[in-house]
Amino acid sequence: MDDTLKSKLLFQWKSASAVMDEAETEAADTYCRGYIDFLNTAKTERETVREAVTMAESRGFVPWEHGKALAPGDKVYLNQRGKALILCAAGKRPLGEGISIAAAHVDSPRLDLKQRPLYEEAGAAFFDTHYYGMVKAYQWTGIPLALHGYVALKDGQGLNICIGEERGDPVLLIADLLPHLAKKQMERPGKELVAAEDLDVIAGLRFCPGEDGDGAVKLNILRILHAQYGITEGDLISAELSVVPAFPARDLGLDRSMVGGYGQDDKVCVYPSLTALFSLTEPPEYTACAVLVDKEETGSLGMTGMGSHFFENFIGDIAEAAGEKAPRVLHNSLCISADVNTAFYHLYAEMFDPYAEARLNHGVVLFRYWGKGGKDHTNDAQAETVAAVRKILDDAGILWQTGEGGRVDAEDSGTLSKFFANLDIPSIDLGVPILSMHSPFEAAAKTDIYMAHRAFTAFFKRT
Ligand code: MN
Ligand code: MN
Repeated sequence: MDDTLKSKLLFQWKSASAVMDEAETEAADTYCRGYIDFLNTAKTERETVREAVTMAESRGFVPWEHGKALAPGDKVYLNQRGKALILCAAGKRPLGEGISIAAAHVDSPRLDLKQRPLYEEAGAAFFDTHYYGMVKAYQWTGIPLALHGYVALKDGQGLNICIGEERGDPVLLIADLLPHLAKKQMERPGKELVAAEDLDVIAGLRFCPGEDGDGAVKLNILRILHAQYGITEGDLISAELSVVPAFPARDLGLDRSMVGGYGQDDKVCVYPSLTALFSLTEPPEYTACAVLVDKEETGSLGMTGMGSHFFENFIGDIAEAAGEKAPRVLHNSLCISADVNTAFYHLYAEMFDPYAEARLNHGVVLFRYWGKGGKDHTNDAQAETVAAVRKILDDAGILWQTGEGGRVDAEDSGTLSKFFANLDIPSIDLGVPILSMHSPFEAAAKTDIYMAHRAFTAFFKRT
């Protein structure tokens, strides 16, 4: 087959290294410096929403006023209870012609503190946890951990908590058994290596001044929390406190080709959704909308998840203000569910389809479905939707690939796509391939992250 026929007939699946010149690679590196800073400020969903609001306000976005019709060029946001966010840059076309939605999730797997987390045992105080999202428990032992979260007080006030991120801050630890005594432990199946119930975080050893005996160490931890934040053990009940890896995101690889960091699923799509929206200097044709939601890792249920009605209600409100009907807006819209996909990894080749998986540094991943047991609980995007997005990507010269997310029936996962599709919005997943997904330190290629920014920008600029 000659080259002409090859380039005409074959899907061009290429490494970024082969197609991106030096200047574009440098642009990707520069872009990812901002992304790394973002990862380091936004580890939890509340922090992510807070940071996104700060970024949006500095670019002229204002809180959406109920009942006010959007005019082309308007930039508004709706903060859904501090844990989800809708941002809109109003376009030139009437809402009834539909909008462009890029939706990513702001929550990441972590260890939540239990409702009554603090206990004392064998001369030490511990926080007991209940994991959030799919984690391999053993990965959370033996690493420095930080405590992040929010405490809601009875008087309606709230406190943000963050311990372990500043230089000089103490960190926390989930201890593991030393290898010398772990013969029996190492013979257990991986799932039982560390029991979920045993993910207890060591918090301290010292007695509270003037106290001794049972409970003096626990009391001392409460004394420290009270001195710093004015909170009591009872306040921990109305809190959302989580333990997350304490180390920062940073360049990964001797060639600095990757970003390593916690919570890239799905901040690696949140950040490009935001930067793409902020890059619109002119009102787009269609109203551009970034939707950042919580709860994806636990099935999208709850007020701030995509299973909630808040997005639909917002569309209903802006439609009504514009004299349109929400179902028509939804029907004519197009949604990119911006989520990560699995990168092929040769050492676990048996878990992957060697011909069809996404690879790091090969561009953004377009994927129609997840799900095992015959595409169970997935949005198998319609061919027309795929074609529409293919055209946007190709016209903008975006490097993209497809992904399967593992061998048939190997994968048990899901994304936001189905929730939008259920609202009668053509919807498909497009995101960044990730290595070591859901671990405390995930890897993504800088070129792919930059391509996500370019892809979402092209999508928001569709005509
Ligand atoms: Mn995800
Ligand atoms: Mn996930």
